[in-house]
Amino acid sequence: MHKPSNALGVARDRRPSQPVTLVRPHAATRAAEFFAQKFPGTSMYAVKANPSPDLIRLLWDGGITHYDVASITEVRLVRSLLPEAVLCFMHPVKPAEAIAEAYHVHGVRTFSLDSVEEVEKIVEVTATDGVPATDLTLCVRLRVSSAHSKLSLAAKFGVGVDEAAPVLHAARQAADALGICFHVGSQAMSPQAYSDAMGLVRAAIVSAGVTVDVIDVGGGFPSIYPGMETAPIERYFAVIHRAFEDLPISYSAELWCEPGRALSAEYASIVVRVEKRRDDVLFINDGAYGALFDAAHVDWRFPVDLVRDVESNTKKLAFSFYGPTCDDADFMRGPFMLPADIRAGDYIEIGMLGAYGCAMRTAFNGFGNGETLVADDEPMASNYTVTEPSREVVTSIREARS
Ligand SMILES: *Cc1c(COP(=O)(O)O)cnc(C)c1O
Repeated sequence: MHKPSNALGVARDRRPSQPVTLVRPHAATRAAEFFAQKFPGTSMYAVKANPSPDLIRLLWDGGITHYDVASITEVRLVRSLLPEAVLCFMHPVKPAEAIAEAYHVHGVRTFSLDSVEEVEKIVEVTATDGVPATDLTLCVRLRVSSAHSKLSLAAKFGVGVDEAAPVLHAARQAADALGICFHVGSQAMSPQAYSDAMGLVRAAIVSAGVTVDVIDVGGGFPSIYPGMETAPIERYFAVIHRAFEDLPISYSAELWCEPGRALSAEYASIVVRVEKRRDDVLFINDGAYGALFDAAHVDWRFPVDLVRDVESNTKKLAFSFYGPTCDDADFMRGPFMLPADIRAGDYIEIGMLGAYGCAMRTAFNGFGNGETLVADDEPMASNYTVTEPSREVVTSIREARS
């Protein structure tokens, strides 16, 4: 008989003393199919959100053929898994050795940049016997606002619109295809983030007077977390499509996007054990150096559920978590809403950790080597399906959308 595999089954059958990662292949495939079918252009997966080989293969099977890679290690990884995938090296500041290996060994033809020096570096190291490459797609990264996003990507990379013309001209001269890319910041809470950025793209195109072949709107598409309800992803696609159609570019120009979080968040959750309770603080066996980096460092609130045979009927209280290492920094403020009678020995499922969660684990202090198991139930929230309305987070998103 088929035994449903979910957090409760894991807690009951195994009583694990290490955190267990639950992966949901069906959720990853569904997200990939959604982007592959509904985004009005090409979707590439931003590998840094979660470089799990299993996940990368699932996304490929779901129709994702392009991958945004940012280091030579990511280039080698994806190339080894998917010989036919299109790899785009979208880090604006790259070591010359990485560009050369990506181009000459792994067939990478698309690179992003935000300076004339980077154009010159790319041209130099992609030449063969002194003959410049004629097959480059160069994407100029424009600096745009992160005002609508939970995590800023506005300070580090990107050339301002006012300084973009010389970079666009240099890239145009060196490239077979010229692109403009940007990133509105991660977890963009409003589609307006993209229409505002497209306004800057328009200004850059007009002031430089260049022909542009690719518009890449980057990542930033949101997933569902407690207190972070957003419009449906389709509305983001519609706003982007409208803005793209309005740009002064040729009818054959391509539209790309680079979702990381939106393709991977629903893929994984973890099951942790409460080792001790001290008032409203729970000591759990994963934390800031494990899958909960963002919960500790940027106060990200992941959905939580008590995993017990008989559900608690006590009311929910706000808890914070301490992770397993020996320092005070291993602290997740929350609030994480859990039943008042939670106690040592209980298990908690923490959801939406497929993006920037499981990928961030370290082995610091001897923690971080738990098992990974496949679950076949629904993720704790989903952008891509109607989820059971019992979950707090799903109810609140329904209300926000109605
Ligand atoms: C991180 C990153 C992404 C993915 O961003 P999400 O917010 O996870 O969608 C895409 N493109 C670039 C250049 C990035 O640095």
